[in-house]
Amino acid sequence: MSTTLRICHLYPDLLNLYGDRGNILCMKQRLAWRGIDAEITEVPAGAKADFANADLIFIGGGQDFEQEVLLSDLKSGKDKELKAAIQDGKTVLAICGGYQMLGNYYETWDGVRCDFIEAIDFYTVGSRERMIGNFAFRCGEHSGGSVVVGFENHSGKTYLGSGVEPLGRILAGSGNNGEDGGEGVRYRNVFGSYSHGPILPKNPSFCDFLLQTAIQTRHPDFCLEPLDDRFELAAHDAVLRSVLPDSEKSGI
Ligand code: GLN
Repeated sequence: MSTTLRICHLYPDLLNLYGDRGNILCMKQRLAWRGIDAEITEVPAGAKADFANADLIFIGGGQDFEQEVLLSDLKSGKDKELKAAIQDGKTVLAICGGYQMLGNYYETWDGVRCDFIEAIDFYTVGSRERMIGNFAFRCGEHSGGSVVVGFENHSGKTYLGSGVEPLGRILAGSGNNGEDGGEGVRYRNVFGSYSHGPILPKNPSFCDFLLQTAIQTRHPDFCLEPLDDRFELAAHDAVLRSVLPDSEKSGI
């Protein structure tokens, strides 16, 4: 494919927990192994974003403090531009705090309310007890169906609006709220998840599904060729076994 995948990294200065930036490195490398270039544009707070000219938008996670700090920048126009890009079918990967930002609001455990961009119908409420640890979920069919492993650490409990599809179903851990078995969100071409780690290096199937979604918006027939994922899958399986000791027996 003679094209370049244009990746917009929103708020790399404020939203980058637990190596979330590694997702950018992973996408770039998996594309390079197939001879595809990636052009990365970082959009820190205060910079102008050009979401319309991106193929994929990445937003990492951040603590409550950073989420409160970025609000004024978000409300200076990026909120509407990002919402419009999502409605247009732009591919987005958003992690934890970045995922929460796409919903209606986040009310922190100590009562601060962050009104977010309302691109997707869900809300998040902080709880005193944090949800922390390695976890695993199975993506819905519509999101590739692979089993994803990662690390979650959040106080926010996210509740999806009726008819809003989660990214997957929890196999071990808490996910959206520790109550309804859902993890993340899948809306149009948005993939939201609580999975840090970063999520993509040890979940190659999910990474390729995301990349392919982004590429196919400009090249509908394009299919990524498979790679030798032995090392990535060994890392994936090691985490999966640690959270789900019976995974080998049950064939997950
Ligand atoms: N501040 C949010 C929470 O605790 C997000 C944290 C994160 O991105 N890990 O819910």
